[in-house]
Formats: sequence, C-alpha cells, structure tokens
Amino acid sequence: MPNLLIIGGSDAGISAALRARELDPAADVAVLLADAFPNFSICGLPFYLSGEVPDWRALAHRTEAELAGHSIRLLPRHTATAIHPGRREVEASAPDGTQVRLGYDRLIVATGAVSRRPRAIRGLDQPGVFPLRFMADSFAMADYLERTRPSSALIAGGGYIGLEMADGLTRRGLAVTVAGRSVLGTVDPEFGRLIQAELERNGVRVAGGVTVEEIDAGSEHLSISGSDGFRAEAGMVLVAAGAEPATGLARSASIALGQGGAIRVNRRMETNLPDVYAAGDCVETWHRLLGRPVYLPLGTTAHKQGRIAGENAVGGDKEFAGSLGTQVVKIFDLAAARTGLKDAEARAEGFTPLTVQSEFWDHKAYYPGARTLHVRVTGDRATGRLLGAQILGHWQAEVAKRIDVFATALFHGMRVEDLDQLDLSYTPPLGSPWDPVQLAGQAWCRASEGRRDV
Ligand SMILES: Cc1cc2nc3c(=O)[nH]c(=O)nc-3n(C[C@H](O)[C@H](O)[C@H](O)COP(=O)(O)OP(=O)(O)OC[C@H]3O[C@@H](n4cnc5c(N)ncnc54)[C@H](O)[C@@H]3O)c2cc1C
Repeated sequence: MPNLLIIGGSDAGISAALRARELDPAADVAVLLADAFPNFSICGLPFYLSGEVPDWRALAHRTEAELAGHSIRLLPRHTATAIHPGRREVEASAPDGTQVRLGYDRLIVATGAVSRRPRAIRGLDQPGVFPLRFMADSFAMADYLERTRPSSALIAGGGYIGLEMADGLTRRGLAVTVAGRSVLGTVDPEFGRLIQAELERNGVRVAGGVTVEEIDAGSEHLSISGSDGFRAEAGMVLVAAGAEPATGLARSASIALGQGGAIRVNRRMETNLPDVYAAGDCVETWHRLLGRPVYLPLGTTAHKQGRIAGENAVGGDKEFAGSLGTQVVKIFDLAAARTGLKDAEARAEGFTPLTVQSEFWDHKAYYPGARTLHVRVTGDRATGRLLGAQILGHWQAEVAKRIDVFATALFHGMRVEDLDQLDLSYTPPLGSPWDPVQLAGQAWCRASEGRRDV
C-alpha cells in the first residue's frame, strides 16, 4: 500500500490523485495545496470576472465531497516549505501556522506556475494593479471592481489571458486598452491583425508594439507609461505577461531544472530524484513534433501529465506522448486556434516550411448563418509533412473541432495531402462534403506544386 503524497491540488495534482486511486484502490493518496480551492478551473476565471459565470463556486471541476468520495485526502491551506528526499518527508505549514511533517513512498510535485512580474515595469504593487492566476487574484479583482467601479482598465499583455480579459471587462462596461508587443503572438501576425480589428470593433483600444514601463498612482486614476511615448490613464491595470514555473520548493530540494527554468522530467514524468515525479505547469514538456522538451504550460497538458505521473507513481509504466501546443481562445465573436508550429518557428527548427492561408465557409453557404473561416496550413516543402495549422473564425463555426483534426493529423505525423483521405462528417448546416480542413490542405498542395487556385 504505497503512500503517495502530492504537492499541488489543481489540474495536474488532482489528475494524478484520481489516476492513482483508480489503479490502486489500496494506495493512500494525500494532496497538499496552498490555497483552499482544490480542483478549480482557473481557466474559467475570465468568465467569472466578466459576469458570464456569476458564481465562482461553479468553476470547481469537482467538489471537495466528490474528491473525498474517491478517498483522496485533501490538505487545503497547507503550504509545503521543504522536501527532504533523504528521509522521504515533506514539511508544510498548516493553517494554524504550525509546521507538519508528512512522509511519503512516492512524491508528485505539481506546484504549477505563477504570473510573471516583469521587472521592467515599475509600480506593480499599487492598489488597483492585478495579476490573474489564482482564485485569490480573481476575488481581489472582483472586490475592487465592485467597490471602486472603475470606468476603464489597461491590460498589459496581448496574450490569450489579456485578450479574454479585454473581452470580459468590456462586457462589464469598462473602457479597455490593451498594450502589448503583439496581439496574440501565438498566431501569425496576419491573424493578429484580424483579432485587433475584432477588439477595436468592440471598442477596445489596442496599443501594439508597446512595452508598459511604469504605473503611477494618480489622484483619481492610475497613470501608465510605456515605450515610444505611450501614455494612458485607467481605473485599474491587469498585468498579463505570461506564466513562469513555480519551482522554488523543487530547486531547494535539488530537483534538477530544465527548459524555461521548469522541473526537468523524462517522459515518465520522473525527476532526477528517486520516487519523485512532477507534472503540470511546473515542468518542462516533451514536444511531440520537435522531439525535445520545451516550456509550454497548458491546462490540457497538465491533466495528461498528472494522469501519467499518478499512474507511474503506483507502479505503472506510461510515457507522455508529447504536446503540440494545441490551443484555442474566444475573443468577443472570434475564436483563434493553433496547433504545431508557425512558419517562423518551423524555419527556426530547420524545416523548409510553406504556409498557405485560405478562406472557406464553415458550412454550406445556402444554409443560413454561414461564416468565413480563415485557415493557415504550414507544411514542410521537402517532405510534404504537416507541421502546423491556425484557424480564425466565428466562435460558433467549429474552429476548435477543426484545429483538433489538424492536431490529430500532426500527432500521427501525417502529410498535408493525406488530410484529403480523412473520413470527416458532413451535413449542410455544419460543414461541406470537403471540410475546410481538407480544402485548406488542398490549397496547400496546389501552392506547393505551383498550381493556381481553381
Ligand atoms: C486565466 C487563465 C486562463 C487559462 N485558460 C486556459 C485555457 O483556456 N486552456 C488551457 O489549456 N489552459 C489555460 N490556462 C492554463 C491552465 O490553467 C494551467 O495550465 C493549469 O491550471 C496548470 O495546472 P497545474 O496543476 O500544473 O498548476 P496550477 O493550476 O498552477 O496549480 C498549482 C497548485 O499547486 C499548489 N501549490 C503551489 N505551491 C505549493 C506549495 N508550496 N505547497 C502546497 N501547494 C502548492 C497551488 O495551491 C495549486 O493547487 C489558463 C490559466 C489562467 C491563469
């Protein structure tokens, strides 16, 4: 009966606990978590703050009672302060301030990530300036929005969290400015421009190519200044500058770090220490297409890695198959998705990429409500291998389903021309006999062979 201790009670930690209990009902599984919100979907925070999900409690993937039903012992408000691998023990501070010691046979570190605090920005500690990572961040922001009712917000960072929040705060009636180096840099600038147009159509001011440098408390507003003479005033500031792995605890226990300062793991999610596994946003991630580790923190990956760590910690032998960085985000009426490599990324990795953008109806145009889908396919000229895809379109135009078809094709190392043979579904209200995925593949093949569109 192994004693499995897990540090971290979010996507990775709870996935690990559930899998371990599933495979070994006799295992003693305990989960330490620093806050009081086990198994909450922090991906849902923008929708709680926008008011679309009025009650934060709805963000729980599972309730504490459901987790207890799986015989998982939860220790909320317990912050692990040291790992002693020699004596297989973790020290933690309990809610009453006392130090407790917990022994383990196997340990899983799933401490996640923290919001990046760019050193170059002065004034991050002012009232009215927020990160968004934890439930507590969202409560602080919700409270501020209720109490001070700001009429405007500045968002520093044009990544997916910044843009989800631009949408969310606009819905709450705030005038929003997004200042960042790029607009959704995870997709190509051609799509970034279309997303910027959607933001502006909804009243968001976009200051592209700007780095925020200073936030000052004014008498009524915060004053924000940045590169190229950028100046703005706002009632609140959200700093959405990305995430970095939370590895202080691991580092002080001599757990080796790798890509992006994240915990180094093999594909069995083992660290350099015996019987110590790690998973989720605190670890580096095996990239399936590149065949090497990268730092690519995503909720989808955290769930998978946690499940594998949990399985192996109770005697299993499973390897993480790797991530392709597949992701999708909804911004007002648009959804933007990507999987695999962008053109520039593929080039930097030594491929000879060709990227072809084409536009299609999401379903037969004679059926009401047809919308345009923009699809970018990146393939390797030398081998014809699919390297990546990006899709932008109305959020109800099945963008996510379609990027997932590309992701599945990438997972299996398919060539672009093989997309044609996939047996995909069709009915006029939802698609066409040739799905846009296949039409985009055909457009890529035509371009690679130097033939014209017909
Ligand atoms: C606003 C937002 C939106 C997002 N949207 C998406 C999305 O749409 N799609 C997607 O794929 N991903 C999304 N993500 C990313 C996703 O939420 C993360 O990848 C995922 O939560 C990572 O899970 P994790 O368990 O590794 O870490 P975390 O969720 O960061 O959890 C870490 C856990 O460790 C605990 N912990 C940390 N240190 C200690 C310690 N010393 N002692 C005890 N406990 C400790 C914490 O309390 C917490 O329980 C989003 C993230 C944010 C912030």
